[in-house]
Amino acid sequence: MEVLLLAVNAPPLEGEKELLRHSYFTFLVDGISRACSHQLVRHRVASYSQQSQRYVAMKKFPYVTPETLKGVEVEVGGRKLSYDDIMEEIGEFYEKLVDAGVPKEDARFVLPNACTTRIVFTMNGEELVHFLRLRTCSRAQWEIRKMAVKMLRKLRDRFPKLFGKVGPNCYYLGYCTEGKKSCGRPEEVRAFFSKLEGVENG
Ligand SMILES: Cc1cc2nc3c(=O)[nH]c(=O)nc-3n(C[C@H](O)[C@H](O)[C@H](O)COP(=O)(O)OP(=O)(O)OC[C@H]3O[C@@H](n4cnc5c(N)ncnc54)[C@H](O)[C@@H]3O)c2cc1C
Repeated sequence: MEVLLLAVNAPPLEGEKELLRHSYFTFLVDGISRACSHQLVRHRVASYSQQSQRYVAMKKFPYVTPETLKGVEVEVGGRKLSYDDIMEEIGEFYEKLVDAGVPKEDARFVLPNACTTRIVFTMNGEELVHFLRLRTCSRAQWEIRKMAVKMLRKLRDRFPKLFGKVGPNCYYLGYCTEGKKSCGRPEEVRAFFSKLEGVENG
């Protein structure tokens, strides 16, 4: 996964609230799964441009492999299959459909959530903080959380004062808002985000 802070449009305003409200941040994220981008685009106060699967050739398509799937084999129809085996078979099937004349916009129906994608999005500062509070939380799914933490590191690099206090609610507000679904490790999470350093690359 690659995360780039492509552009920032921040007017010279004194107040933090006003500055966030009137600032725009554009990110490019490459190599996340479609499962992850689907969660991202649920955030409505933003603009998105996503690589189309309709026109991009997906032969030998790149995909994300969750740690929990590495080394796992299961038996299907008398054959022992790994995640990579299935991805390869889907790729072959897709390729054969396209070769048989099926339009790419229909052949792509067989492609999995794991397929990687590239997406550019712009959020204003207020929405960005809202997004980061939700998606850096331990409750968020691992891939979007990883992406959100990378975004936060880029923002801390450029705007340490503005984003130094941003993180999941237990860090941002000082208390957890997740009730029964809390990870139960607020001290550990707070320590992680108070030490998280800004990086331009990484
Ligand atoms: C841990 C986690 C688990 C999730 N699980 C699920 C799930 O199981 N199923 C599922 O469907 N989704 C799930 N989601 C997605 C979630 O329901 C939201 O769609 C997503 O987090 C976007 O957040 P949002 O609506 O607060 O904010 P955004 O869309 O980012 O908007 C920001 C804020 O602007 C305001 N706003 C935006 N649009 C409107 C509007 N039209 N009218 C009024 N106010 C508006 C709201 O105050 C909103 O909170 C999950 C999210 C998280 C973080």
